Amino acid sequence: MGKIIDCKTLSQKIKDDVKERVDKLKEKGINPKLTVLTNPDDEPSKAYVRNKKRVCEEVGIEFEEIPFNRNIEYKKLLQVANANNPVVVQLPINKDVDTEVTWEVINDYYCCPERDVDGFFKDAFVKPATAKGVMKIFDYINYDLEGKHVCIVGRGKTCAKPLVQMLLDKNATVTVCHSHTQNLEEVTIECDVIISCVGKPHLITKEHIWWGSVVINVGLSVNPETGKLNGDVDFAACKDKAEYITKNTGGVGLLTTACLAENVVELYERRL
Ligand code: NAP
Repeated sequence: MGKIIDCKTLSQKIKDDVKERVDKLKEKGINPKLTVLTNPDDEPSKAYVRNKKRVCEEVGIEFEEIPFNRNIEYKKLLQVANANNPVVVQLPINKDVDTEVTWEVINDYYCCPERDVDGFFKDAFVKPATAKGVMKIFDYINYDLEGKHVCIVGRGKTCAKPLVQMLLDKNATVTVCHSHTQNLEEVTIECDVIISCVGKPHLITKEHIWWGSVVINVGLSVNPETGKLNGDVDFAACKDKAEYITKNTGGVGLLTTACLAENVVELYERRL
């Protein structure tokens, strides 16, 4: 059986380091804070926001949650816009406020590099948290990416696209698959590492991987019948064939929130 990558311990190491850095900032009179504009009508994002809040509280980052729908007061929005702490605009944005004007305000006030904690916008100071978390896995398991063939399944901007550059920087050979890729398993089976960032349950089966590969699950989807989270990777089937594998829940998600907290600290440290 392959080794299950212990994302819980890795996320704890990241949080311990972040907490130390938060304490140092506080000694200098700086109180790091994260504001999240949430969509009060989107069920899945409620869980993501809850996790961000929990991690921020654990490491001593002040957490502010602002429900962002048509009921939000203009005064409050302006107050957030004029503050200068890092901001997350939790997607999907509420449909009542998803207008061109809203996006202009977001782009003008929130998406400056000093506040862009997701690292999504041009000239961002920090790297997107999920991709950063995935890269930390390779250090943690002591896996040298140099010359390895990595397949990223998915080309979304939250994780897959940023990963391409990060993996190239480590001298990996990178193949990107997407919904138009034909015979996905013929591509993935050739690769040393498979990172699935799609959101389709059991897209990656044991037929998609070769013995001894590293299999990382990023994609998550909610089963509409049970309400439970599913991963892209058929964990039960793949765990015996992979050398290293992440769990679907209690896996990369833990690293995303820990790295988001790390990004908050990085943005504050840059200001010193
Ligand atoms: P996205 O922008 O919708 O990207 C999904 C990608 O999957 C697209 O590039 C799409 O291809 C590709 N795809 C769809 N069906 C496919 C198939 N049958 N075979 C191969 N590729 C296929 O979503 P995202 O924002 O990147 O997020 C991806 C997943 O990661 C979601 O499930 C999200 O919930 C999850 N996620 C998890 C974490 C975490 O912390 N664990 C963090 C962020 C995101 P096309 O481009 O051709 O449409």
